[in-house]
Amino acid sequence: MSALLPTYARSGLSFARGEGAFLFTERGERYLDFSSGVAVTALGHAHPRLVEALTEQASKVWHVSNLHQIAGQERLGTRLCDASFADRVFFANSGAEAVECAIKAARRYHFVNGAPERYRIVTFEGAFHGRTLATIAAGGQAKHLEGFGPPVDGFDQIAGFDIEAVEAAIGEETAGVLIEPIMGEGGMLEVPWRFLQDLRARCDEKGILLLLDEVQTGVGRTGRFYAHEWAGITPDIMSSAKGLGGGFPVGACLTTEAVGSAMTTGSHGSTFGGNPLAMAVGNAVLDVILEPGFLDHVAQMGLKLKQRLAGIADEHGDIIEEVRGQGLMVGLKCKVENLKLLAALRDRGMLTVQAGDNVVRLLPPLIVGEDEIDLACTTIDAACVALKGTARNSA
Ligand SMILES: *Cc1c(COP(=O)(O)O)cnc(C)c1O
Repeated sequence: MSALLPTYARSGLSFARGEGAFLFTERGERYLDFSSGVAVTALGHAHPRLVEALTEQASKVWHVSNLHQIAGQERLGTRLCDASFADRVFFANSGAEAVECAIKAARRYHFVNGAPERYRIVTFEGAFHGRTLATIAAGGQAKHLEGFGPPVDGFDQIAGFDIEAVEAAIGEETAGVLIEPIMGEGGMLEVPWRFLQDLRARCDEKGILLLLDEVQTGVGRTGRFYAHEWAGITPDIMSSAKGLGGGFPVGACLTTEAVGSAMTTGSHGSTFGGNPLAMAVGNAVLDVILEPGFLDHVAQMGLKLKQRLAGIADEHGDIIEEVRGQGLMVGLKCKVENLKLLAALRDRGMLTVQAGDNVVRLLPPLIVGEDEIDLACTTIDAACVALKGTARNSA
């Protein structure tokens, strides 16, 4: 029996090393990694710039706490602000913590501005914001809330991307609206850009805040630095994590000056957040992602992948119903059980991630090349052919 809590349904695989878009088991078997550890290893495995940044920092100083100045934190904070809408950044260690900070900052903004009654946040069915008590309440999924007592108060969830429903849900106690630009865990559902623009306009009208959860969509994943750039809008508060550390745990909550200045000394904190190791890696990730041409490469590879997949979906309409997503955040909505396709791909040496709405997620590293996209598509095609065979045999 394992000593670990049985919270995960793990595969039997154990990886000894990785290189770029590939992972190798202890027995030397090679896997094409189109999961990136759930959208985390944005630069693939063992990227030389990240290895160098981490090992160099490891021989200097690991941790000093936020009682002192941390040069790498100032630098990464400034670079994130320069490259985005934000004026201020708080560093955490995970996505859930980044969202937690976003929720706190939204409440705190209204508190400081004379409207302490505004603490509620409008959220969306199918959302995922993390596994802390507040973020499972924000996500509102029964399977995540079950057995954990009364959900944290302050979240009003609505169905669909319906601006009238949002308007109806906004009241005297509303602090803001929280949404993922593409619902990752929920099934790679793209929120229409028009809806994001409408949300921005309504929030401005009502004097409330727009909170974007870009934990999965951010740091280049969709072909822009942050996905909301596609919609031509900016949020007031944004959570970022996953790809930001390229595999080292880094989370960040980015805000405008108006929101950030409400988070006064002592109002929030984290022991580990923004430590020198995390910041060395985060800065190295940005060195690569923000290099001219890198995001264009992501967008191009994303287009190529989606074009190939559209062909495969045409040919195997009985297995794949739809191809969704943006950039290198792609979902295959399945006609067969998604876990069957996932297993068929894994049996053929390719790793993907399950999502809600019967979707298989493809999350290759952003450094992925054409050859690896070809290999992925050949593998998906072969898996579809095999699944069709079993479907026919069992019919
Ligand atoms: C993964 C994810 C989170 C939670 O991140 P953790 O690092 O697991 O806490 C929150 N929001 C979104 C959109 C995510 O995809």
